[in-house]
Amino acid sequence: MAHPHLWHPFTQAKTAPDPLKVKSGQGAWLTLEDGQQILDCISSWWVNIHGHAHPRIAEAIYQQAQVLEQVIFAGFTHDPAEQIATRLVKYLPGALSRVFFSDNGSTAVEVALKMAYQYWHNQRQHRPQFLAFTGAYHGDTFGAMAVGARSPFTAAFDDLLFQVEFAPFPATYWGDETVEQKEAQAIAQIAAKLATGSFAAIILEPLVQGAGGMRMCRPQFLQQLQAIARQSDTLLIFDEVMTGFGRTGDWFACTRAAVEPDLICLSKGLTGGFLPLAVTVCSEKIYAAFYSDEAQKALYHGHSFTANPLGCAAALASLDLLIETEAAFRGLEAQHQRRLVHLADNPQIERIRCTGAIAAMDLVTAGDPGYFNQIGAQIRQRSLSKGLLLRPLGNVLYLLLPYCITEAELDLIYSGIDEILASLPS
Ligand code: PMP
Repeated sequence: MAHPHLWHPFTQAKTAPDPLKVKSGQGAWLTLEDGQQILDCISSWWVNIHGHAHPRIAEAIYQQAQVLEQVIFAGFTHDPAEQIATRLVKYLPGALSRVFFSDNGSTAVEVALKMAYQYWHNQRQHRPQFLAFTGAYHGDTFGAMAVGARSPFTAAFDDLLFQVEFAPFPATYWGDETVEQKEAQAIAQIAAKLATGSFAAIILEPLVQGAGGMRMCRPQFLQQLQAIARQSDTLLIFDEVMTGFGRTGDWFACTRAAVEPDLICLSKGLTGGFLPLAVTVCSEKIYAAFYSDEAQKALYHGHSFTANPLGCAAALASLDLLIETEAAFRGLEAQHQRRLVHLADNPQIERIRCTGAIAAMDLVTAGDPGYFNQIGAQIRQRSLSKGLLLRPLGNVLYLLLPYCITEAELDLIYSGIDEILASLPS
């Protein structure tokens, strides 16, 4: 039964089924109030990289809570925050060396946009525009919405969103013979725009656009993008809120693609699924433009819970686990691929793609391929009755599994998908 005083996100009140009440979570599994077990195939919105309720993270929070639970972060610091900063910059490309904390993916993006814009402002240069990509999603706050694709989800606010130039994202898939052409066209278009010298930064989800439908591009595209960004001195922001922490089969999409952005946004996987935390990490060059004796050059952005010690303790434990599961996240691409080849001939599937832990397929739709396509809703319902949590994005069915997933569970998921697709009206 829907609670009379709760408002759930992404719910059309009249048509959505009642929310399912979750009693507990363990590893990749959730247990509902009625005892039904459901395999979380999307890591609860891509957050729970180690599955649910990992005892090591729970213990780390418990220990930290007895020492320091929260403290103002302006003018104060603490061990858990310093340790996160020291460790993160070790895993990130060399130039990224200043860590700014916030609370969630959207705010990590807001911070990156403010840093990039004010970076030029502080140097008395007028670069009023951002370049973003079609199909992008960067969060639900106003700045993040502005640099995301306009969609039915933003429609009510479109008049309020600042103007952004959008370039085509050269999405590719298995057997795509046009990818180089799409990349060349995108790069040519972007280079022409950047040549105006009016762009503060380019922002994108590198290698995989998430909420826009798990659309994947090649590392080569990111390398070319970096080259033209450097030529025009435009900053490059990588939103790795989803792709960070092993999701693309390497520590980060930028390390997998061998590209060094000027700013990177991280959240979801950083937290291990326990407490909200995010960071925007920038280069020393950017930091230097804010760090001066002139008051008006400071970055005036600080959340109440900035660098919350409990969140940092959870993130440190999550990083430890990530190191221990490196072989698992590096191996997931091959595990997916072995199974995806068997789906390639399924008449319900139009296109397949896979990068690291992320596997996605576009389903054939009769008519409307948009967000509210019926096929997504049908799959959501049918998968639950098979004990799988799948939430297609429109007609895109995808998997984003926790790293604790076993071969047997993978088999269960793929055979479940086979059965669900066979049960759909053709
Ligand atoms: N950027 C990307 C790439 C995301 O996938 C998301 C969340 N799906 C966000 C930003 C926003 O993160 P949050 O929901 O934590 O605000």
